[in-house]
Amino acid sequence: MSQMIFTEDFKETPYWWERTPRPVGSDESLPESADVVIIGSGYTGLSAAIQTAQHGRHTVVVDTEDAGWGCSSRNGGLVSTSLKLSFDLLSRKFGSKAALDILKESFNALTWVERFIHENNIDCDFRKVGRYHAAHTDQALAQIEADIKGIPKALNTGAYMIEPQDQHTKIGSDFYHGGAVYPHHASLDPARFHQGLLECAQSKGAQIVSHCKVDRIEQQKGSFKLITAKGSITAGDVVIGTGGYTGNPTPWQQRRIVPIGTYMIATEPLPQETITRLIPNDRVITDSRKLVVYYRTCPERRRIIFGGRVSLRETRPRISAPQLHQQMVCRFPELESVKVSHSWMGFMGYTFDEMPHLGKHDGIYYSMGVGISLAGYFGMRIGQKVVGDPQGATAFDGLPFSGRFYYRKNPWFLAPSIYYYRWLDQRKT
Ligand SMILES: Cc1cc2nc3c(=O)[nH]c(=O)nc-3n(C[C@H](O)[C@H](O)[C@H](O)COP(=O)(O)OP(=O)(O)OC[C@H]3O[C@@H](n4cnc5c(N)ncnc54)[C@H](O)[C@@H]3O)c2cc1C
Repeated sequence: MSQMIFTEDFKETPYWWERTPRPVGSDESLPESADVVIIGSGYTGLSAAIQTAQHGRHTVVVDTEDAGWGCSSRNGGLVSTSLKLSFDLLSRKFGSKAALDILKESFNALTWVERFIHENNIDCDFRKVGRYHAAHTDQALAQIEADIKGIPKALNTGAYMIEPQDQHTKIGSDFYHGGAVYPHHASLDPARFHQGLLECAQSKGAQIVSHCKVDRIEQQKGSFKLITAKGSITAGDVVIGTGGYTGNPTPWQQRRIVPIGTYMIATEPLPQETITRLIPNDRVITDSRKLVVYYRTCPERRRIIFGGRVSLRETRPRISAPQLHQQMVCRFPELESVKVSHSWMGFMGYTFDEMPHLGKHDGIYYSMGVGISLAGYFGMRIGQKVVGDPQGATAFDGLPFSGRFYYRKNPWFLAPSIYYYRWLDQRKT
């Protein structure tokens, strides 16, 4: 039965790869040395590379797979501040001054993405459409309202509430209990954005070496030696932008980042009239459940791209697709017979304190736990730190970044946590 949801040309690859096929980067051989070696060719790595290369540092970006193969060419393209904690929670953790600075910085990241795309003429369908954050219960609506009221006026987010009776102007669904609009949030085509960053990094002189997995990093006097699938390379500085794919070569970071699979589907093309009714303002949509779902239309407004975490354990996209389809139909019952053309997944990197982090440990620079906007923005700041540019300072510098004694590299606790979150989400509906 569940197989009936697939189109004849169904693919287990990201929908975005149709317009921007892999591989998109160069596959050069590895030089023997570089000033800076960056591990990971996603938004983080490339954005750091742009800074170091334009400051005249010989920069080499390596990736196990094709350039951008990780989250950066397979995400949903919903551009928000990437910050999960409210001002209230941030204040309790770090004090109100630091909380305000952190929030300001994450808004800077949003502005940065827009400006970067504009200044570099990146054709990636960036649209400041706003995000509708929908409440799955009355209680969740009250919490969203409290969070918005708690945002300091100085931030000028423009966020506003939508009462349940007005909801149909934002979404053609009766599933939710109202919500809020964040007007500065945006949508883009993630693979095209990545391609733009890639071309920009190359134009500044960065070398991209794909199919070059780093297996080991050895500290030497004043430099690093990286042992890779294409031989070894000596580097003055090393940056890691490996996100949810962080592995053995950087055990300190690996213990602090939990890879969690997130899954997406794209529907077959739908009639224009259906799309206009279901997602009238072209907004991107998230919801308040613990197991959040997120969705939008594709840039041509023909398909719905729908994502979330649906299975207890990691699974194949063909298995997750019917579950995501069911979640979509809960929100839009008229889509029951609509087929799925693409289903894919990727590993996001989660931190235990739900905060994005950047910094330097044992001489190695890192940035992790980020979404689209902060990945690029932190990448830029890390690049500036490498070259000693004071602009690289951020409000996130020096925040404690801890692992947990029970976690090394196997997130055994994921399935029970997801089971628990599912129960929480169902209990409240
Ligand atoms: C399905 C999905 C949907 C998402 N949707 C959204 C969204 O709508 N909005 C949002 O803000 N965020 C979203 N995200 C998260 C967002 O895409 C990521 O946070 C962001 O792209 C991280 O970029 P990055 O450069 O840090 O890491 P990545 O893009 O994941 O790049 C890491 C790279 O490191 C490489 N690598 C790892 N180890 C090594 C090694 N040892 N040697 C060489 N290379 C290595 C990997 O091959 C990979 O290419 C989504 C993620 C997924 C998977």
